[in-house]
Amino acid sequence: MAKKRLRAIMFGPPGSGKGTQGQLLADRFDVPHVSTGELFRAEIAGKSAQGKMLKKYVEAGALVPDELTNAVVTNQLKRMDLRKGFVLDGYPRNVEQATHLNRVVKINIAVQLRVADVEAVRRLVGRVQCVDCEQVYHKTDSPPIKPGMCALCGGNLIKRNDDTKNLIRKRLETFHFMTEPLVSYYRQKGVLLTINGEQAIPYVFEEIMKKTAKLGFKS
Ligand SMILES: [Zn+2]
Repeated sequence: MAKKRLRAIMFGPPGSGKGTQGQLLADRFDVPHVSTGELFRAEIAGKSAQGKMLKKYVEAGALVPDELTNAVVTNQLKRMDLRKGFVLDGYPRNVEQATHLNRVVKINIAVQLRVADVEAVRRLVGRVQCVDCEQVYHKTDSPPIKPGMCALCGGNLIKRNDDTKNLIRKRLETFHFMTEPLVSYYRQKGVLLTINGEQAIPYVFEEIMKKTAKLGFKS
């Protein structure tokens, strides 16, 4: 029998570690990791027509409209061999986007990383990021060897400007209102995996691997 290929999405509140877990999952199954954040940055850097539109929203700190997000992600998916599988992270962000995605490709795993607001805030407030390689550190959970300096490339560590308490609360509200309805959307499709995202990174990944194995996915 042909190996069942992973066509997964990752979702969870900011600070739930979906980028990290998405990358681990993609590496383990040897499939591409498609991060909307990275796609947006690449489009903006490439100065495409879509990139120029994206830039306006990103710089204003505004939500990118569904139509534009759908177009950027769909373009990327069309360039890939979807039969080989993938892990999508940062998309879909709401049920409208999920409905659009469902017309392009059928998802067979939706990983929901559950993290309570109080823990998400704690994680995000302590987070710093390298200006050069974008490696993320946390003041107490994963501190850099030298304060203020990236252990990988020596770059400066700064707080992301959307990691202030007020903005974090706003992002969490948006998540509950906009993204959380994906739980029932994907539960109805029978592909929802709910994971306790408050554990340490290796344990979160272990839980994801156990539950994907139960669904018949072998890495
Ligand atoms: Zn760095």
